[in-house]
Amino acid sequence: MTARRRLFDALFLDRDGTLIVERGYLSDPSGVRLSPGAAAGLKRFTDAGTLLFVVTNQSGIARGRLTWDDVNAVNAEVERRLRVRGVPLAGFLVCPHYPGGTVAAYTRRCRCRKPGTALHRRAIRAFGLRPERCAVVGDKWDDVGAAVALGAAAVHLLTGHGRSHRRAVEEKAPGTILARTLAEGLARLEALPQSVKAGHPSP
Ligand SMILES: [Mg+2]
Ligand SMILES: [Zn+2]
Repeated sequence: MTARRRLFDALFLDRDGTLIVERGYLSDPSGVRLSPGAAAGLKRFTDAGTLLFVVTNQSGIARGRLTWDDVNAVNAEVERRLRVRGVPLAGFLVCPHYPGGTVAAYTRRCRCRKPGTALHRRAIRAFGLRPERCAVVGDKWDDVGAAVALGAAAVHLLTGHGRSHRRAVEEKAPGTILARTLAEGLARLEALPQSVKAGHPSP
Protein backbone atom coordinates (compact mmCIF):
# COMPACT_ATOMS: atom_id res chain seq x y z
CA MET A 1 0.00 0.00 0.00
CA THR A 2 1.39 3.38 -0.94
CA ALA A 3 1.72 6.10 1.67
CA ARG A 4 -0.96 8.74 1.47
CA ARG A 5 0.06 12.36 1.36
CA ARG A 6 -0.77 14.15 4.57
CA LEU A 7 -3.18 16.95 3.91
CA PHE A 8 -3.69 17.83 7.59
CA ASP A 9 -1.48 17.85 10.65
CA ALA A 10 -4.49 17.27 12.89
CA LEU A 11 -8.26 17.10 13.05
CA PHE A 12 -10.05 18.63 16.03
CA LEU A 13 -13.25 16.64 16.32
CA ASP A 14 -16.22 17.62 18.43
CA ARG A 15 -17.59 14.65 20.42
CA ASP A 16 -21.36 14.89 20.93
CA GLY A 17 -23.40 15.11 17.74
CA THR A 18 -20.24 14.75 15.66
CA LEU A 19 -18.09 11.76 16.56
CA ILE A 20 -20.87 10.06 18.50
CA VAL A 21 -24.64 10.32 18.36
CA GLU A 22 -25.93 13.24 20.49
CA ARG A 23 -27.52 11.95 23.69
CA GLY A 24 -27.57 15.04 25.92
CA TYR A 25 -25.35 14.94 29.03
CA LEU A 26 -24.29 11.37 28.32
CA SER A 27 -22.94 9.76 31.50
CA ASP A 28 -23.23 6.04 30.65
CA PRO A 29 -20.55 4.57 28.39
CA SER A 30 -23.06 2.00 27.13
CA GLY A 31 -24.85 4.92 25.45
CA VAL A 32 -21.91 5.58 23.12
CA ARG A 33 -22.81 5.15 19.44
CA LEU A 34 -20.14 6.11 16.95
CA SER A 35 -21.50 8.14 14.06
CA PRO A 36 -21.97 6.01 10.95
CA GLY A 37 -18.74 5.67 9.01
CA ALA A 38 -16.68 7.38 11.73
CA ALA A 39 -14.04 4.69 12.13
CA ALA A 40 -13.57 4.03 8.41
CA GLY A 41 -13.44 7.71 7.59
CA LEU A 42 -11.02 8.58 10.36
CA LYS A 43 -8.78 5.60 9.60
CA ARG A 44 -7.88 7.20 6.29
CA PHE A 45 -6.60 10.27 8.14
CA THR A 46 -4.73 8.11 10.67
CA ASP A 47 -3.09 6.19 7.83
CA ALA A 48 -2.01 9.49 6.27
CA GLY A 49 -0.34 10.61 9.51
CA THR A 50 -2.97 13.11 10.68
CA LEU A 51 -3.39 13.32 14.46
CA LEU A 52 -6.93 13.12 15.83
CA PHE A 53 -8.02 15.12 18.87
CA VAL A 54 -11.45 15.29 20.47
CA VAL A 55 -12.32 18.78 21.73
CA THR A 56 -15.49 18.87 23.77
CA ASN A 57 -17.49 21.36 25.83
CA GLN A 58 -18.86 19.45 28.82
CA SER A 59 -20.86 22.11 30.61
CA GLY A 60 -22.72 19.28 32.34
CA ILE A 61 -19.84 19.26 34.82
CA ALA A 62 -20.40 22.93 35.75
CA ARG A 63 -24.17 22.37 35.73
CA GLY A 64 -23.92 19.46 38.17
CA ARG A 65 -25.38 17.07 35.58
CA LEU A 66 -22.15 15.12 35.03
CA THR A 67 -19.03 14.29 37.03
CA TRP A 68 -15.50 14.12 35.67
CA ASP A 69 -15.74 10.34 36.16
CA ASP A 70 -18.82 10.25 33.91
CA VAL A 71 -17.11 12.26 31.19
CA ASN A 72 -13.88 10.28 31.43
CA ALA A 73 -15.77 6.96 31.26
CA VAL A 74 -17.60 8.02 28.10
CA ASN A 75 -14.37 9.31 26.58
CA ALA A 76 -12.62 6.04 27.37
CA GLU A 77 -15.38 4.12 25.59
CA VAL A 78 -15.13 6.39 22.54
CA GLU A 79 -11.35 5.88 22.56
CA ARG A 80 -11.73 2.12 22.84
CA ARG A 81 -14.32 1.84 20.06
CA LEU A 82 -12.02 3.70 17.68
CA ARG A 83 -8.81 2.01 18.81
CA VAL A 84 -10.15 -1.46 18.04
CA ARG A 85 -10.93 -0.22 14.53
CA GLY A 86 -7.34 0.96 14.07
CA VAL A 87 -7.99 4.61 14.86
CA PRO A 88 -5.92 5.88 17.82
CA LEU A 89 -6.86 9.25 19.30
CA ALA A 90 -4.06 11.65 20.20
CA GLY A 91 -6.03 13.11 23.09
CA PHE A 92 -9.26 14.36 24.62
CA LEU A 93 -9.45 18.08 25.37
CA VAL A 94 -12.35 18.87 27.70
CA CYS A 95 -13.80 22.17 28.90
CA PRO A 96 -15.82 21.59 32.11
CA HIS A 97 -16.81 25.25 32.58
CA TYR A 98 -20.01 27.22 32.10
CA PRO A 99 -20.79 30.77 33.27
CA GLY A 100 -24.33 29.77 34.29
CA GLY A 101 -23.37 26.63 36.15
CA THR A 102 -24.18 25.51 39.69
CA VAL A 103 -20.89 23.89 40.71
CA ALA A 104 -18.74 26.73 42.02
CA ALA A 105 -15.40 25.31 40.94
CA TYR A 106 -16.45 25.30 37.27
CA THR A 107 -18.90 28.19 37.10
CA ARG A 108 -16.98 30.86 35.28
CA ARG A 109 -16.02 32.29 31.96
CA CYS A 110 -12.97 30.61 30.49
CA ARG A 111 -10.84 30.58 27.37
CA CYS A 112 -11.29 26.89 26.73
CA ARG A 113 -15.03 26.63 26.15
CA LYS A 114 -15.52 26.58 22.36
CA PRO A 115 -15.56 28.86 20.41
CA GLY A 116 -12.60 29.62 22.67
CA THR A 117 -9.40 28.06 21.42
CA ALA A 118 -7.29 27.48 24.54
CA LEU A 119 -7.61 23.70 24.26
CA HIS A 120 -6.80 23.60 20.55
CA ARG A 121 -3.81 25.88 21.11
CA ARG A 122 -2.51 23.66 23.89
CA ALA A 123 -2.41 20.73 21.45
CA ILE A 124 -0.96 22.91 18.68
CA ARG A 125 1.92 23.92 20.96
CA ALA A 126 2.48 20.47 22.44
CA PHE A 127 2.54 18.68 19.09
CA GLY A 128 4.09 21.40 16.94
CA LEU A 129 1.05 21.62 14.66
CA ARG A 130 0.50 24.29 12.02
CA PRO A 131 -3.00 25.72 12.59
CA GLU A 132 -3.54 26.36 8.88
CA ARG A 133 -2.94 22.66 8.32
CA CYS A 134 -5.54 21.64 10.88
CA ALA A 135 -9.28 21.17 10.46
CA VAL A 136 -12.15 21.41 12.92
CA VAL A 137 -15.25 19.23 12.57
CA GLY A 138 -18.39 19.92 14.58
CA ASP A 139 -22.13 20.38 14.74
CA LYS A 140 -22.30 23.85 16.31
CA TRP A 141 -21.17 27.37 15.54
CA ASP A 142 -18.89 27.01 18.57
CA ASP A 143 -16.76 24.52 16.64
CA VAL A 144 -16.60 26.59 13.46
CA GLY A 145 -15.95 29.75 15.45
CA ALA A 146 -12.88 28.13 16.98
CA ALA A 147 -11.68 27.14 13.50
CA VAL A 148 -12.04 30.72 12.27
CA ALA A 149 -10.06 32.03 15.25
CA LEU A 150 -7.32 29.47 14.65
CA GLY A 151 -7.15 29.93 10.89
CA ALA A 152 -8.02 26.25 10.44
CA ALA A 153 -10.37 24.64 7.93
CA ALA A 154 -13.91 24.04 9.18
CA VAL A 155 -16.53 21.39 8.52
CA HIS A 156 -20.03 21.93 9.85
CA LEU A 157 -22.15 18.79 10.10
CA LEU A 158 -25.93 18.75 9.96
CA THR A 159 -25.98 15.94 12.55
CA GLY A 160 -26.54 16.61 16.26
CA HIS A 161 -27.44 20.28 16.67
CA GLY A 162 -26.16 21.07 13.19
CA ARG A 163 -29.40 22.18 11.59
CA SER A 164 -30.12 24.83 14.22
CA HIS A 165 -26.58 26.20 13.91
CA ARG A 166 -26.49 26.18 10.12
CA ARG A 167 -27.59 29.77 9.60
CA ALA A 168 -25.02 31.17 12.05
CA VAL A 169 -22.29 29.20 10.32
CA GLU A 170 -23.34 30.30 6.84
CA GLU A 171 -23.56 33.96 7.88
CA LYS A 172 -20.39 34.19 9.94
CA ALA A 173 -18.10 31.73 8.17
CA PRO A 174 -19.17 31.29 4.55
CA GLY A 175 -15.98 29.34 3.73
CA THR A 176 -17.14 26.46 5.92
CA ILE A 177 -17.73 23.06 4.35
CA LEU A 178 -21.29 21.89 5.08
CA ALA A 179 -21.91 18.14 5.20
CA ARG A 180 -24.89 15.98 6.06
CA THR A 181 -22.87 13.36 7.94
CA LEU A 182 -19.45 12.89 9.50
CA ALA A 183 -18.57 10.40 6.76
CA GLU A 184 -19.41 12.97 4.09
CA GLY A 185 -17.57 15.75 5.91
CA LEU A 186 -14.41 13.66 6.16
CA ALA A 187 -14.61 12.74 2.49
CA ARG A 188 -14.99 16.42 1.58
CA LEU A 189 -11.91 17.28 3.63
CA GLU A 190 -9.89 14.56 1.91
CA ALA A 191 -10.97 15.87 -1.47
CA LEU A 192 -9.71 19.40 -0.80
CA PRO A 193 -6.93 20.32 -3.20
CA GLN A 194 -3.56 20.98 -1.61
CA SER A 195 -3.91 24.69 -2.44
CA VAL A 196 -6.99 25.12 -0.31
CA LYS A 197 -6.18 26.32 3.18
CA ALA A 198 -8.73 27.12 5.82
CA GLY A 199 -11.59 27.03 3.36
CA HIS A 200 -10.27 29.87 1.25
CA PRO A 201 -9.48 28.68 -2.28
CA SER A 202 -6.43 30.33 -3.77
CA PRO A 203 -7.03 32.37 -6.96
MG1 LIG B 1 -21.50 18.83 19.41
ZN1 LIG C 1 -13.36 26.05 29.93
